[in-house]
Amino acid sequence: MKEIITYSPDRIPVDKSLPGLLKGQKALVTGGNSGIGKACAIALGRAGADVVVNYFRGEDAAIEVVETITAAGVRAIAIQADVSNEAQVQAMFKQMIAEFGTIDILINNAGLQKDSRFEDMTLDQWNLVINVNLTGQFLCAREAVREFKRRGVVKDISVSAGKIICMSSVHEVIPWGGHVNYAASKGGVMLLMKSMAQELAPARIRVNSISPGAIRTPINTDAWQTPEAYSDLMTLVPYQRIGEPEDIARAAVFVASDMADYMTGTSLFIDGGMTLYPGFASGG
Ligand code: NAD
Repeated sequence: MKEIITYSPDRIPVDKSLPGLLKGQKALVTGGNSGIGKACAIALGRAGADVVVNYFRGEDAAIEVVETITAAGVRAIAIQADVSNEAQVQAMFKQMIAEFGTIDILINNAGLQKDSRFEDMTLDQWNLVINVNLTGQFLCAREAVREFKRRGVVKDISVSAGKIICMSSVHEVIPWGGHVNYAASKGGVMLLMKSMAQELAPARIRVNSISPGAIRTPINTDAWQTPEAYSDLMTLVPYQRIGEPEDIARAAVFVASDMADYMTGTSLFIDGGMTLYPGFASGG
């Protein structure tokens, strides 16, 4: 007979509050050596997880993140892999499982932009963004799910068998001229995430997205580096400040933790109100 599971918040051990919220869990953050990924990797480590910091280029930056995390008293290692390359992704998971034993949390964060006017966009620009931002999330999620299913729930560690957080964007819902490859990749991430969440929920695997607005990282320096650009950006942000990587990292710790145990298939927008149609604030 099928077991009926009746987890509820009171089943979550009360001592699992910050900073021990993710104690004993093993996390992998793709693109963990810069921007949002770096902040997430450090925050997960501070919450008690052992962390793999994936990087593509920038080994020194990855090692710096590893050192920051290990200073918090947990384990961390850097692993180089291109998330759009199946063999490299599989080798990365193999190495992680050899060193850490398993994986509990995947932060599918790696991403990039190759912007162009639509009529000038090359197939290479299109393919690169889709391959990294969308196919990369599929490849990493698939390896994580294989391990989650193999291992199942270990109640002392977490009440679910595994958690995947897809780093999406407000551009999963806001069209973005001049960036159609990027918007298409994030729209794809939205239904990849929701379809995985639907299929994998019975296996107690939670899949959610975080959809940031404008966050101060190297991906979008043009949007905030000059006072003029910053002021233009603020016309899109009702909360009237740019987001910091830590704004996203705090949410990632929550979504990855058992505090969010009943949450799956959700896009959590962290955008200072960017998706609230700010142009309608005084008109329409
Ligand atoms: P970033 O440029 O600082 O970080 C991107 C990371 O992805 C880097 O570590 C980079 O090396 C890595 N990466 C790129 N290609 C890779 C590959 N093939 N394999 C492995 N890693 C690769 O930018 P960020 O702002 O921190 O972006 C992180 C994620 O957040 C991206 O998915 C981005 O689309 C998303 N995002 C960012 C913003 C923002 O305003 N900064 C807003 C919405 C969504």
